[in-house]
Amino acid sequence: MLITDTGVPKELIEKDQWGGEIMKRLDDGWCAAVDRDTLMCTIYENRPWICREFEMASYECETERRDNGIDPH
Ligand code: SF4
Repeated sequence: MLITDTGVPKELIEKDQWGGEIMKRLDDGWCAAVDRDTLMCTIYENRPWICREFEMASYECETERRDNGIDPH
């Protein structure tokens, strides 16, 4: 969810059913800004505020990667 304007490109933004702005997802369910080869954010300097709060290598991060079949290390 986009709470503040951090400069996310418009083509990567969608509206949810309540009219809120969210990151677009591709058919695989992942954020459209994820580079599928490197798993890195392609808009890192402009990523949403929530993404900035999500700690890399945190328990939640590693759990998400493991649940999606990605070795967290
Ligand atoms: S940090 Fe991750 S979820 Fe956030 S915009 Fe970048 S690729 Fe998407």
